[in-house]
Amino acid sequence: MDLSKLNKEQKTAVEHRKGPLLVLSGAGTGKTRVLTSRFVYIVKNLNVKFNKIIAVTFTNKAANEIKERVNLELQSSIDTPWIGTFHSIFAKFLRKHSNLVKLKSNFTILDIEDQKKLLKQVLDYCKIEKDINEGIYHNEIQNLKDNKILFYENKKISKFSSIERLDDIYSFYQQRLIEINAVDFGDILLHSYTILFNNEDIRNSYQKFIEHILIDEFQDTNLIQYDLIKLILNSNKNLFCVGDDDQSIYAWRGANIENIINFPKEFNSPVVRLTKNYRSNSSILEAAACIISNNKNRLGKDLVSFNKNIPDQKINLNSFYSQEEESLWISDNISKKFQDDNSIGVLVRLTAQMRSIEDKFIKYALPYEIIGGPRFFDRKEIKDILAYLKLANSFKDDLSFERVINLPKRGVGDQSVKLIIDNAREKKLSFFESLELLYNDNNLPGSLMLKTKPFIEIIKKTSDLINKTTLEDIGIFIIEESGYLKMLENEKNKLKQVENESRIDNLKEFVNALSEFENLDDFLEHVGLVNENQKKTHSNSVKLMTLHAAKGLEFDHVYLPGWEEGIFPSSRALEQNSSKSLEEERRLAYVGITRAKFDLNLSYATSRYTYGMNNYSLPSRFLNEISNIEKNSSNTIEDHSEFNLTKKITSDNIQLSPGKKRMLEFLKKNTK
Ligand code: ATP
Ligand code: MG
Repeated sequence: MDLSKLNKEQKTAVEHRKGPLLVLSGAGTGKTRVLTSRFVYIVKNLNVKFNKIIAVTFTNKAANEIKERVNLELQSSIDTPWIGTFHSIFAKFLRKHSNLVKLKSNFTILDIEDQKKLLKQVLDYCKIEKDINEGIYHNEIQNLKDNKILFYENKKISKFSSIERLDDIYSFYQQRLIEINAVDFGDILLHSYTILFNNEDIRNSYQKFIEHILIDEFQDTNLIQYDLIKLILNSNKNLFCVGDDDQSIYAWRGANIENIINFPKEFNSPVVRLTKNYRSNSSILEAAACIISNNKNRLGKDLVSFNKNIPDQKINLNSFYSQEEESLWISDNISKKFQDDNSIGVLVRLTAQMRSIEDKFIKYALPYEIIGGPRFFDRKEIKDILAYLKLANSFKDDLSFERVINLPKRGVGDQSVKLIIDNAREKKLSFFESLELLYNDNNLPGSLMLKTKPFIEIIKKTSDLINKTTLEDIGIFIIEESGYLKMLENEKNKLKQVENESRIDNLKEFVNALSEFENLDDFLEHVGLVNENQKKTHSNSVKLMTLHAAKGLEFDHVYLPGWEEGIFPSSRALEQNSSKSLEEERRLAYVGITRAKFDLNLSYATSRYTYGMNNYSLPSRFLNEISNIEKNSSNTIEDHSEFNLTKKITSDNIQLSPGKKRMLEFLKKNTK
């Protein structure tokens, strides 16, 4: 095979004969390229059939790359279940052996929403406290599964978690999953593990068949993933792992950085180190090195920029007065650079940061895509609060009624809802009108009168507030009076879950979004527009994602907004005040910076308007750690006053960027 596109160290790794090998090296040094070449090499030079190799990659993109390269080299079209993510590979394994865990081979993989629905049924059945949300149990059960704890291991469960009756819930939930012939994500790995662990014959047959195992992003494997691999590995130990301890960013999901640190000892394995970086220019690498050198718990490595085609360009740092200004500048700046054939990534620390950026992208008519998660207005908590708002705006909105009548839980179960709906059908009323009528006529069972009273009140009060006070106040009123915020806070306190923290941030960000609109119709129209934008397909688009989702990817231009204390490092990491959590944040900063090829734009806002208040913040400590950046002296967008609505819309200044022009036109059309 053609090894000419590899450097000497890369070749050494690719041409490894047998036994374990660890390729340990920094970002952009070609680890994923080496893994792909290794696959091809094993097939072509070691004469191993492609379906006897497992290649676990972090993204489908990398999996497809391997398939394409093998196809090209072999002039064939390969079809193997063994190239993909851990979940995709073991889902196929499980289909083959599903009967051993009482499933049929056509089992369904439930999405998160359906997993939670099922859990909710179980909670109702077990008559669990009203104010606890199924999300808590969901998280905890997934954690148990990632730690290989089965539903009948009561002692381990109670040692692992303090949540009351978790063992009961877990066990009923598992029973229901089997009854409906379904699995959740955790099951895919745990069932596979159980099958391999308990059945020596099956284990032996796979060990005999699978000759090589390749793993990308090895630093982020968790306990069950690693143990699964070890069960399949035969005594030849042909295990080829590539990774970077500096990019371990999933400890909060159970990833164990020790796996990579201990690998050479555990397997008595050689280590190949790659030091030539082909992705980024030297300014970017210097900045990355400055930051990561502050971490103590690392193996340590140097990177040298080796791609002569990449222009050297200094790193930009911009500060802004507010998040809105920051988002505006990013959109404006991107629209000047955006072309059909370049790649642009905007990477945020918190999902809540996406809202104002998405809004500006819409206004600038910039095509964009969110990688690895829903759009802001598609998030569950946002849709829930929107449903309150829509119902208050129109009592006829039955869909919204159904969404929130029992959310947060107020004891209005399916039977009660049916009673309300039946009455609505009979009297030709909307669901809300039906409830109100039943309530006013005292026609509900006693307990339901009590339970529905606050709901009716909040919808009516919100409806009265519309057009009388600001949308922002209305948003805060709903979030607080409905008990929704309290519900999330309860869950957060009970189980220190990252997910809930970001859901609370998102709600606060939703209030910020409301504060930018004068009336509700305009706001709802805007939300519709955001969703409409989603349907359009473009040949190129700006990629917006969290730093966590950016692993393994690269872009010509990278924007890293929100480098402020409390955002990045996150307030959660600061609260924990441990070097461990701060070091993980720093690794995240390293991942972010090293995604850029030549154009890196860091920024921060000195104040953020959150939940009706201006919060002032300090620039991130990570910025002080970078020695090779200077703050731009003129660091706000030139003359942003025209964006303060319509005042200067008449300007047809030819110096405006195309995006700015599009935005002005948009404003002209959409504001009377
Ligand atoms: P990360 O740590 O971010 O996952 P990585 O180590 O996996 O990075 P790759 O994504 O494989 O790095 O490679 C980074 C870039 O360098 C890619 O664009 C790749 O095509 C290019 N590259 C890798 N090796 C070489 C080489 N020997 N010559 C030229 N380009 C290379
Ligand atoms: Mg990679």
